[in-house]
Amino acid sequence: MRMASAQSVSPRVNLSFEFFPPKTPEGADKLRAVRQRLYARQPEFCSVTFGAGGSTQEGTLQTVRDILAEGVDAAPHLSCIGASRDSVRGHLRDFQAAGVKRLVALRGDLPSGYGIGGEFHHARDLVAFIRDEMGSAFHIEVAAYPEMHPQAKSPLDDLQHFADKVRAGANSAITQYFYSAAAYRRFVDDVRALGLDVPVVPGIMPITNSSQLLRFSEVCGAEIPRWIRLRLQSYGDDRESIRAFGREVVSSLCEELIASGAPGLHFYTLNQAEATLAVLDDLGR
Ligand code: FAD
Repeated sequence: MRMASAQSVSPRVNLSFEFFPPKTPEGADKLRAVRQRLYARQPEFCSVTFGAGGSTQEGTLQTVRDILAEGVDAAPHLSCIGASRDSVRGHLRDFQAAGVKRLVALRGDLPSGYGIGGEFHHARDLVAFIRDEMGSAFHIEVAAYPEMHPQAKSPLDDLQHFADKVRAGANSAITQYFYSAAAYRRFVDDVRALGLDVPVVPGIMPITNSSQLLRFSEVCGAEIPRWIRLRLQSYGDDRESIRAFGREVVSSLCEELIASGAPGLHFYTLNQAEATLAVLDDLGR
């Protein structure tokens, strides 16, 4: 196992953990236990996905209520594609009544075959709507793509659209996951060159399962560097080796990101504690 080099890590870097709403009572119990283990690392907040992977929107609100009741700040994700203003207004009111102070505003994805219906077309429209309707009631996070959103025309076009979301009122950003610290640094430099000073927090995907990672990455446009892909493939079904290698890769990435000034780390936990805790152990966090 590798050891973190003391001077390259920060025990105080901000953390956030992302969960998806569980679909069964057993899943909810399991997630409660996972959260307790992760709370020991004192996250700034935990976020809960919305409508992703077939999860229900009511599940998001319930999970957010559970987290808030546990004394931790909770940020629901809210996607707008295919939604009406009335339905979004309803979600915002529910979040506010539950005590939510921060949310992650997204476009979302329609299942293939759906046209672009609804009253919102891009996340920027949602950010502007939230500011119009609710003023500064919420701290708004938006998504960022250091390796470009898969539907964008070009990296520059995507960057401009990211800037639009910030100018519409977003306070900070969480990135899609990636395994190239250089792509992150470049993106942040480009954002700063546009005169925008929003924090851009890297999204971190721990590596525990190679086929799942390769499948996800195909869909969301995250690049798995060739050397990582080949190593993962060479382990076949040897989950122990995949985990050990994944831990090493992700811990080194996080160290590099922190050393280059990342303001925090947002972990895509996939409702599991182990892999995230292993990386945090390596970081001394
Ligand atoms: P946008 O910022 O609207 O961008 C989408 C695309 O449209 C980009 O290619 C952009 O360049 C382009 N674009 C933007 N504005 C314009 C314009 N004016 N004209 C032309 N093109 C434009 N999905 C879920 O369903 N639920 C979740 O909970 C969820 N959580 C996520 C959390 C994070 C941190 C991230 C990074 C992603 C998450 N996603 C989630 C996935 C996200 O919904 C998809 O990546 C989606 O395809 C884009 O959402 P967005 O908010 O980035 O969209």
